[in-house]
Amino acid sequence: MGPTLKSMFEQTAAKYPDKEGLVDVRLGVRWTFKEWEDEVDRTAAALSASGVEKGDKVSTVLYNTAEFATVLFACMKIGAVFNPINFRLTEKEIRFILQDAGPKVVLFEKATAPQVEKVAGGMPEVEFWSIDEAFSFASHYYDRMEQVLERPPVCEVQEDDPYAIMYTSGTTGLPKGVIHTHRDMVDQALIIAASMRLQEEDRGLTAAPIFHCAELHCAFFPRVMIGASNVLLHHFDAPAVIETVREEQITTFFAAPTMWNMLLQEDFSHEDFSTLRQGLYGGAPMAPALTLRLHEVLGVELVQAYGMTEMGPAITALFDHEQIEKAGSAGRPIFHHDIRVVRTNEHGPAEPNEICKPQELGEIIVRGPSMMKEYYNNPEATKEALYKGWYHTGDIGSFDADGYLWVSDRVKDMILSGGENIYSREVEDCLFAHPGVLDAAVIGEPDQLWGERVAAYIVRKDPGLSEKELDEFCISSGQLARYKRPRRYEFVDELPRNASGKLQKFKLRESVEKVTE
Ligand code: ATP
Ligand code: MG
Repeated sequence: MGPTLKSMFEQTAAKYPDKEGLVDVRLGVRWTFKEWEDEVDRTAAALSASGVEKGDKVSTVLYNTAEFATVLFACMKIGAVFNPINFRLTEKEIRFILQDAGPKVVLFEKATAPQVEKVAGGMPEVEFWSIDEAFSFASHYYDRMEQVLERPPVCEVQEDDPYAIMYTSGTTGLPKGVIHTHRDMVDQALIIAASMRLQEEDRGLTAAPIFHCAELHCAFFPRVMIGASNVLLHHFDAPAVIETVREEQITTFFAAPTMWNMLLQEDFSHEDFSTLRQGLYGGAPMAPALTLRLHEVLGVELVQAYGMTEMGPAITALFDHEQIEKAGSAGRPIFHHDIRVVRTNEHGPAEPNEICKPQELGEIIVRGPSMMKEYYNNPEATKEALYKGWYHTGDIGSFDADGYLWVSDRVKDMILSGGENIYSREVEDCLFAHPGVLDAAVIGEPDQLWGERVAAYIVRKDPGLSEKELDEFCISSGQLARYKRPRRYEFVDELPRNASGKLQKFKLRESVEKVTE
């Protein structure tokens, strides 16, 4: 019988019973690995007593809390399939996922009750538990049970059993349910722990949303595997992150580019960050100008990961010593991952054998041990995405002669103007280098003559920043050919981003369509 996430957790608890395993800053929870496992067992017993069986799904709409970290492993103890839902989704979006996933139980908390309770009314077949009232570490639930069970019934969990349904971020359309097995994630955790050189002395901060696989699989699980401590912050808040790094002697944490951008707006000058050795970023493109600023201000080792929910997620990494010379690249494939850039095909999935030359742009395809088994309830999408055994990412990029991958854009975000391809990221990277720009998004909008033209949406740091100044900046940068320069600028207060901090460009395109209709 191969390793599972369940056996990984049990082994760590047995190996480090007295070591601090989990801290929840808001709840004041400080558990050793043994105490954490006891809570997990009690919660698993409560779930089991309420009728959850092997293969049933349990959804959560929870922030980064000890309850999340408990229910997660409790599901594994009884072979239930864990379905973490983004806590920032609207009522409609949550309903879509619940109807698709079909869970037996949904757990939520006070902070997510307004959306979840509205959904609950229309789903009488599903049990909705508010952890604040009925569940809180299973204790209230015990009050309603005749017999208090300390341990769940023994359940055999195999390496190929599904561990979770994780929904993609819904950046390009409706989220898709990705099925990952235990084995997928054990492999991902092993590879990440080794690549990031995690040590049992590490103290990792979970401030990015834990429901997202970037945090859960690339930061949280590898730490559990190695016996390092996890410190949970309810949600990302730049001053609170800085305070927690100091107070909890954090050595490593992951944040999405937009979160690093928020951190950079804070004043670090009086902070003692001497314990911090590593900052991880990824999940969306980060402008090289931002990476370089981060390097300068923080002075810690930086590691970038590129990936997608379907792959577990990480497939490449860019390490600290490569950050300057290869700024803007996504790095090289991580161990055991095969990546190709292949010619795109207008009529269907790209052929895995039509490999592009170095520097030639094409679709990024990949295969590796943590590749999803399928999209839940969606055989058509699965067939297309996993064509000939390769996951087709829908991202455009190229390899350079040194084997570094450069991600240019998503196929869906690419702009076609006068027969030329324009990669929105290239234009954004240029705009981000202007010190008066806080946030930037570039899209293609309809143009009668050219098909599409470039439009830039800018959040200003400096309110006096003008369209003319930005255009002159693009010209003087020497990085953008004339046809790539934005034809129209719009200054906005904020950009549409999802909870993972990703730009939802389809929302910008929709707003343009409404105006031109
Ligand atoms: P959906 O598939 O529902 O539209 P999504 O693709 O944003 O949403 P995720 O799986 O969370 O869902 O994100 C994966 C995508 O994020 C990648 O395909 C890529 O476009 C982008 N991405 C992730 N990491 C990086 C990175 N380091 N650099 C550039 N882009 C990245
Ligand atoms: Mg995707």
